[in-house]
Amino acid sequence: MTFVVKVRGAPSGPMTSEYDCPDHGRFEAQVDRSSIPDFHPCPDCSALSPWRISAPLFKPQRGAVAQGKIAESPHQLALDTRPLAEGMPLREWKKRRAAMWRDHDRPKQRELVEQTEKVLNAPDGVSR
Ligand SMILES: [Zn+2]
Repeated sequence: MTFVVKVRGAPSGPMTSEYDCPDHGRFEAQVDRSSIPDFHPCPDCSALSPWRISAPLFKPQRGAVAQGKIAESPHQLALDTRPLAEGMPLREWKKRRAAMWRDHDRPKQRELVEQTEKVLNAPDGVSR
């Protein structure tokens, strides 16, 4: 039995590769994809500089760093159980949630009461 190795994508062609000059630091060079040289002359001093894996591959992923960090609540009324995790008793937490909603609903309720009073106090015949 024989195996055929198939290379996906363009087997050759130019690509950007990174090298690291000992004196001038990292630089990018256009190299052939099919045979990336291990060394490339530095554009500043022509010293043969070793190939380096591209910097973005080194960078930690955003999510990996954000893990364990407290993200901002998406909304002030969003369900936030962090106080519970920090030891707040459930009863206290529920009380705060209730107070938060009460404060939130108050303007709406006041508006409803005002509208109702306006309708009730309107002299007969005004709206006809
Ligand atoms: Zn150099």
